[in-house]
Amino acid sequence: MPVSVNDTYGDPFIIEQVGNTVTKLTSLDRHRAPIAIFTKAGYSEEVLAQLETVPAQVAANVVVFYSLTGLDEGGISFDERVRFIQALREIFTNTLVFTRPIIRNRNDDPAMLRRLAEVAAEHTGYLVLGGLHDAKKRKTIETPVEDQLITFCDELGVPTFHKTSCAASWLHGTECWVHDLGAPRDLDSLVSLGYRFGIRDDMVVLDRGTTGDINFIRMLTRSEVYLREVISNYNLLTLPSGERKLEATSSWFAWSENIDTCLDCNYCIIKQIEYLKKMRVRIGVHPSRLPEIVASTGPSQDFSAFRLTKLPKDHAGRNVYADVRTVKPCRARLYPRPLRVERTTGQGATDASSSHR
Ligand code: SF4
Repeated sequence: MPVSVNDTYGDPFIIEQVGNTVTKLTSLDRHRAPIAIFTKAGYSEEVLAQLETVPAQVAANVVVFYSLTGLDEGGISFDERVRFIQALREIFTNTLVFTRPIIRNRNDDPAMLRRLAEVAAEHTGYLVLGGLHDAKKRKTIETPVEDQLITFCDELGVPTFHKTSCAASWLHGTECWVHDLGAPRDLDSLVSLGYRFGIRDDMVVLDRGTTGDINFIRMLTRSEVYLREVISNYNLLTLPSGERKLEATSSWFAWSENIDTCLDCNYCIIKQIEYLKKMRVRIGVHPSRLPEIVASTGPSQDFSAFRLTKLPKDHAGRNVYADVRTVKPCRARLYPRPLRVERTTGQGATDASSSHR
């Protein structure tokens, strides 16, 4: 199960949170699927020293998506961020430029897009196109802006991806768990978690659920998911989990501490999510503990207690992922798979790197 670490309010690589991030990463030493880190943190020797303690086999599994926008969030300059990206790549080979968000009239001019592509060309080798926001911070599709960024990257020989899942699966030489779907598999995992479902036309069918359920079941079964009734467009799961909330974004199962300190970006959407905001809450759990948490806790989240469902008013007839989120093509199919090279580090541990850079 692809898992993200500390991807709610807070930043996994700021000094206030890096200790918890290292603890979580270290505990994932037997985790085989990709692990995602999303960060916008500034350069810090203290943070780097802590990150160097992450075991090599875990670091090889981590994909760091560094959000580079040119907006100097938290007062951190562009050059400082590039310096941090360079240093992070010494620890996490798979560190990528992630251009999220691009906001109309703020950082969508060709000069800035070119600069972002050039950083990817010089320092990371790959780029993930993040969500594009309009001036009111709504996610929207600005095809010319996206095309411009892809063109710059093509000119510089930088593979680009629409979704983090596409990039991570490509780097790990596996199928994309968002796009490469087929007949449902590993259905035992759904049974063990207590999901009640049927199968129809190679889809897992549930009577009711959330967008989070669609995301989660798709990543477990690698198949399309059909909900007869979508009760919420939040990423929360309907599985019982007590006080702890379980979340799955379209690409990652979330394991996170939501804290009250971060860069305070003025476009931050987490501050608008009613169960997160700046509250100290725990999201998710070590993946190996998921069955235990689900079996030992009470009823599922009461979705009627939320003020919002994030569903459009006319949501009848919305049943699958494409009805509730914007679908992007998988660009991983455009590029030959990277060859993963095993190399031995000075400590005798094994490290994996890609031959593509
Ligand atoms: S303030 Fe919000 S958008 Fe900015 S880094 Fe923190 S969580 Fe991310």
